[in-house]
Amino acid sequence: MVHTIQEKIDSLGLSRVLNSNIPVDIEKVAKFLGADAVVRADIEGAGMLLPRGDGRFAILVNSRDSRARQRFSCAHEIAHAVLDSHDIANRSSLEQPKRSIERYCEKFASHLLMPAPAFDAYAQQRMASMNSIVDLADVFDVSIQAAALRYVETLSEPCILICSQFQLGRTGNRLRIKWSYETLARAEHNSKHFIPKGKSLKNQAMEVAYWTNSLQKSNDALDLGYRSIDAYSESMGFGSSNNRFVLSLVFPTNRGSTMVSES
Ligand SMILES: [Zn+2]
Repeated sequence: MVHTIQEKIDSLGLSRVLNSNIPVDIEKVAKFLGADAVVRADIEGAGMLLPRGDGRFAILVNSRDSRARQRFSCAHEIAHAVLDSHDIANRSSLEQPKRSIERYCEKFASHLLMPAPAFDAYAQQRMASMNSIVDLADVFDVSIQAAALRYVETLSEPCILICSQFQLGRTGNRLRIKWSYETLARAEHNSKHFIPKGKSLKNQAMEVAYWTNSLQKSNDALDLGYRSIDAYSESMGFGSSNNRFVLSLVFPTNRGSTMVSES
C-alpha cells in the first residue's frame, strides 16, 4: 500500500507537533523523529543525511544558504530519514526511482513546513493572489517558491504557476520559463498540457515585474508554447542580480479555448 503524504505524516504521529507551532520548528521535528543533531556546515549540496544505523541520524545543512533554504533542506533530509519502501513503491513506474524519491521528499518537506490543516486554513482566509503567497511565505518562514507551490494545492480553481528568469536561448536573452506547475494538468492527468521549460515569455507584465518591485496584473493572452490562453495573471519579481526571478500566478479565464486538441 502506498501512503499519501498526509497518511505518512499521521502515521509518524506528527500532525500535532507540526500544527501546534507556526512557523514549524523543523529542528524540533527532526529531533522528535530521531535526529541527534541538525548542524550548519560548509558542505557541497544543500543538505545531507547521516544515518547511524539504529534509527537515529544527524542532518547537515549548508551554512551558506538562506535560513528559509536551510529549513527546507532540513525538512527534505527528514523525509529521506523516514522514507520507507511503502511510500514510493508503484509510484509512477516509468520514472527513474531516484527522481521519484527526490520528488517525494520535496513534497513531504513542503508538508512538514506548511502542514495541513494550519496552512490550508491560513490560505483559505486569503484572496487567490501573489500578495497572499508573500504573506504565507512570511508566516510559515519558507521561500516564496515553496509557499507558492504549496498554496496552489489549496486552490479549487485551475491555475498555472510560472517561475521565469532571464536566460540566453536561440532567440537571445529573454525572460524564459524556469519551471511551471499546472493544477489543471494534474487534475486531468493530461501530459499534453506540458509547458516547455526554456520557452520565452513575451509578456509585458512579467517583464515589468522583473525590472520593478511592484505587483503586475495582466489580462493578456499568454503564449505557453504550443498553445495560447486567455488568462488573468499576477506577476512579481524576487531576488537580485543572477538570482532574480519572476513568479506568476495565472488563472485561465476562458477554459474552453485552452483545450487545444491534437488529433
Ligand atoms: Zn534528497
